[in-house]
Amino acid sequence: MFDVIVAGGGPTGMMLAGELRLHGVHVLVLEKEAEPSKVVRSLGLHARSIEVMDQRGLLDRFLALGTQHPVGGFAAISKPSPVRLDTTHPYALGIPQTTTDRLLTEHAAEVGVEIRRGRELVGLGQDEHGVTVELADGTQLRSRYVVGCDGGRSTVRKLLGVGFPGEPSRVEILLGEMEVTAAPDTLAAVVAEVRETEKRFGVGPIGDGVHRVVVPAEGVAEDRAAPPTLEEFRHQLQRFAGTDFGVHSPRWLSRFGDATRLAERYRMGRVLLAGDAAHVHPPTGGQGLNLGIQDAFNLGWKLAAEVNGWAPEGLLDSYHAERRPVAADVLDNTRAQMELLSTEPGPQAVRRLVSELTDFDDGNRYLTEKIIAIGVRYDFGEGHELLGRRLRGGGRGRTGGRGGAGGAGRRPIGGAAGRRAGGQRHDERDRRARTAGKREASHAASTLGPLPP
Ligand SMILES: Cc1cc2nc3c(=O)[nH]c(=O)nc-3n(C[C@H](O)[C@H](O)[C@H](O)COP(=O)(O)OP(=O)(O)OC[C@H]3O[C@@H](n4cnc5c(N)ncnc54)[C@H](O)[C@@H]3O)c2cc1C
Repeated sequence: MFDVIVAGGGPTGMMLAGELRLHGVHVLVLEKEAEPSKVVRSLGLHARSIEVMDQRGLLDRFLALGTQHPVGGFAAISKPSPVRLDTTHPYALGIPQTTTDRLLTEHAAEVGVEIRRGRELVGLGQDEHGVTVELADGTQLRSRYVVGCDGGRSTVRKLLGVGFPGEPSRVEILLGEMEVTAAPDTLAAVVAEVRETEKRFGVGPIGDGVHRVVVPAEGVAEDRAAPPTLEEFRHQLQRFAGTDFGVHSPRWLSRFGDATRLAERYRMGRVLLAGDAAHVHPPTGGQGLNLGIQDAFNLGWKLAAEVNGWAPEGLLDSYHAERRPVAADVLDNTRAQMELLSTEPGPQAVRRLVSELTDFDDGNRYLTEKIIAIGVRYDFGEGHELLGRRLRGGGRGRTGGRGGAGGAGRRPIGGAAGRRAGGQRHDERDRRARTAGKREASHAASTLGPLPP
């Protein structure tokens, strides 16, 4: 009998399994795919996840394979990062999801997690002593707890009968990696022109002659799990850019939508949900993988405490109480960002207004802290301003961080720092923007989120 079976070996499942194992828990990860996916969805980590990697001694591995960028703007509204973010890691780390998945898998294996690939969970039953799991090949396994980290179409969530209310996809975007025949200058000029009005469009080099292509689809596919064809890409590129850039030799092709859904419960008895299994939302701002890693970080020690017999009453339930509101907030901000990317006149007017508001440093900070998840505050009621905040950890000192946990991010909007930035601060921003621009140009294809710069 295992202590915990984790269904799904994506970033959430591997992070959680590693966390549990660090507390001596006997963990098995079941992953239905025999081989890791080649599809690069997430393009990076934000500050809170970077802090988590630092606290676990894993950051060097990520830094060695990633590239540091300025923190991106809300809804791709281009503004300099807020000054003095309350973190020792005030940057975004560009790193493809395939690499993140590999690093987390390697870490899990190193700390002693048992990983079985090509094993699909298809059945589940629980009693007062444990959970029986059934695999597609008919095998039955037993564990004290099960965590469904099996993605947005989670089998575990469906088997539990947990509601997943929300909105279906209204728009769909095609995403893939392929080669082009168009000359780099021509390609860049056409892309820049299209992006003046359509922010959900992009074609950018990612090395070795391969380009990451993002273009709105014709409509929402009936079978959302089926990959699109290269012909669909050609057709949509022609439609938006008047050329298909000679795309050929695809490495992989996929589609994603803007479905927004949140599980009604994160726990039913001995079975819990984490990551995309518990929440799905548009990829604006690049938050889903980060959210899953942070779910795992919250759940890991609590479930380990339960397994190891020292958890106080209610500790495990605090996972739902703390993490579900955080996901609800991400659903809201990603949905809002999708609206702001619309080319309709109304959303465009709101976009201009939000852009003006982010000229105020505190407005910019408020929205940025949501995306990079350092503004999270769990609800412990009234009390000290640090109550419910994260312990960000000292970490390795990097430029731009602030020493104290009660840093600039704590000030309410409208205080002295809420006045429109002027004079000296503009100079500082201009300098930062220039630096940021240079760095962005040199890493043009590796911005966070699905949208090229
Ligand atoms: C285009 C796009 C861009 C994105 N960009 C970003 C970004 O920049 N930053 C960011 O933070 N997030 C981003 N995301 C979101 C991110 O990709 C997901 O939130 C993240 O992969 C969720 O991780 P997970 O482990 O919860 O689920 P998944 O990555 O979906 O992993 C679930 C795993 O479970 C396995 N599985 C499924 N069913 C079973 C079963 N029955 N039995 C066993 N195994 C099973 C699957 O094979 C899979 O390996 C993006 C998403 C998209 C679509």
